[in-house]
Amino acid sequence: MDDLKLSSLKKTNFKRTVVSVGEHSIGSGFTLIAGPCTVENETQTLTIAHAVKKAGANILRGGAFKPRTSPYSFQGLGSEGLEILSQARKETGLPIVTEIMDTRHIAMVSEYADMFQIGSRNMQNFTLLKEVGKTDKPVLLKRGMNATLEEWINCAEYILSEGNPHVVLCERGIRTFETYTRNTLDLSIIPAVKEITHLPVIVDPSHATGRASLVERMCLAAVAAGSDGIMIEVHPNPKEALCDRDQLLTLAEFDGLVQKIQKMYRAMNDILAPSV
Ligand code: PEP
Ligand code: MN
Repeated sequence: MDDLKLSSLKKTNFKRTVVSVGEHSIGSGFTLIAGPCTVENETQTLTIAHAVKKAGANILRGGAFKPRTSPYSFQGLGSEGLEILSQARKETGLPIVTEIMDTRHIAMVSEYADMFQIGSRNMQNFTLLKEVGKTDKPVLLKRGMNATLEEWINCAEYILSEGNPHVVLCERGIRTFETYTRNTLDLSIIPAVKEITHLPVIVDPSHATGRASLVERMCLAAVAAGSDGIMIEVHPNPKEALCDRDQLLTLAEFDGLVQKIQKMYRAMNDILAPSV
């Protein structure tokens, strides 16, 4: 039965899917997605967009609609945030990934974004999954914080079975008894996903750890685990950020990290290359 699933690696005869987002392809080479947790204002987002582009990022992330734990926290700029993201794309050429939480926003978000993000809290929002499945826009499907691999894959199936083949998975940490880190990054799920599906999979070490000091090591570990990319939250001044302060890298830190990731990626290709 599992081999009949649309996401199954056997279904495509072991051919892996590459998902195009604007001019960029996820699943061939290593993808760097970076940007603010939330779009705060034009200056903040444009500063970040130019800096991450210069550092080598391929896609700009940024939340306009934010799934906050408390209704009293900043909820995002909404459509104004989308306008700012589209200005950032215009200036830098970077494609945009942004979260969608509501089926009523699909037309609006489609106009501005190059890729929909479905967040951890909405992974099993089946109505939302089916509706984005009816579009042809790429979808970044984050793992639910308490979802098993099978539950996560089934959510990808909801999108695929509606006719949208452009799905990328994102591991963002799961809930365990550990409280030092915000979540527990399940690195072993990366090769596991690759073993059973043909879909690209990336890692979000920012939400997985909740601590900026741990992000670099987890990025390098994600490369070693076979991830197709990483998504990182950055900010010009993390202490002043409106959301997720503790996990944000500065723009200079991001720049240094990109160089290490590139080295690690080359080293891993070397280590794993078949010997002749
Ligand atoms: C995010 O990436 O903006 C986010 C809210 O992450 P998650 O859904 O993984 O918590
Ligand atoms: Mn965040």
